Amino acid sequence: MTAKIVDVGSKAAWKRWENFAKTGLNKYKTERNNPDRDGCSKMSVYLRFGTIHPRQLLAELEPNPDHDHYRSELCWREFYGDVLFHHPHTTWKNLQPKMDSIQVDTDAQAKKKFAQWCAGNTGYPIVDAGMRQMLATGWMHNRVRMIAASFLVKDLHLPWQWGAKFFMKHLVDGDIASNNHGWQWTAGTGTDAAPYFRIFNPVLQGERFDPDGNFVRQWIPELAEVPKKYIHSPWLMESALFGNYTAPMVDHSQERDEALSRYKISGENNRSVG
Ligand SMILES: Cc1cc2nc3c(=O)[nH]c(=O)nc-3n(C[C@H](O)[C@H](O)[C@H](O)COP(=O)(O)OP(=O)(O)OC[C@H]3O[C@@H](n4cnc5c(N)ncnc54)[C@H](O)[C@@H]3O)c2cc1C
Repeated sequence: MTAKIVDVGSKAAWKRWENFAKTGLNKYKTERNNPDRDGCSKMSVYLRFGTIHPRQLLAELEPNPDHDHYRSELCWREFYGDVLFHHPHTTWKNLQPKMDSIQVDTDAQAKKKFAQWCAGNTGYPIVDAGMRQMLATGWMHNRVRMIAASFLVKDLHLPWQWGAKFFMKHLVDGDIASNNHGWQWTAGTGTDAAPYFRIFNPVLQGERFDPDGNFVRQWIPELAEVPKKYIHSPWLMESALFGNYTAPMVDHSQERDEALSRYKISGENNRSVG
């Protein structure tokens, strides 16, 4: 699948900003997490290529909670740029060396699982919708990036570097600092202080952030007819309204336990060495 080309250049950047400032900025705090809405700015590609400078956006912001939240997201971008500048080896290596001992899978079975994740065929609708959105448009909503990344690391037990490389290949806003440190944040190997037990449940995340299932239905035509109640867990339906959509490739609760046990073993090993 080839990504659609977004409008480029500074005129296009300001056009998008003006549209967002009119329709989204004043409800950014509440709507930014919902992939079914136009609730975030989609300025990342313009920031990535320098067609607009973060200071130009800061100058547009006022002191109120929605604008403050937008300012804090721009800060994440600068923060990750700073972390990478000072620790350039963390592009592909864990920022926290103690996390090197976590066991990840890299065998033939792991590669098969990776291929399913890449194609948006995991059987978890919110993960697959995000992956298909990225393959079709070169952009994925932030909340869904977190869910898809968590699934690769904590449900499939694959190296975060595999996912980061795939994202860099497909994202039009692909930025080595925000991307690779976004992945490290998810994997619990980066800047977050208490991260490893945060394991996103893809069904609950879907129900919370795409409550009507409109985002999922947009990207997964096989699920177009599935009612809201089952849209994030279609395998629970008695009748097969979801055509040839794949069954869940793993059981989330089992893989959650497996991830926690791998993190625990790694922690114990570190304690006994340290
Ligand atoms: C696994 C993973 C990979 C990511 N890869 C990239 C990437 O390659 N390039 C990229 O620009 N962002 C990346 N992000 C951060 C974030 O998802 C995108 O910046 C955001 O989705 C872009 O959409 P937006 O412009 O509508 O964001 P908005 O919500 O409108 O935010 C405004 C701007 O703030 C910055 N920003 C927002 N959230 C973050 C964040 N968590 N980290 C760093 N900067 C942020 C971006 O520059 C963004 O354009 C990644 C996040 C994760 C979890």
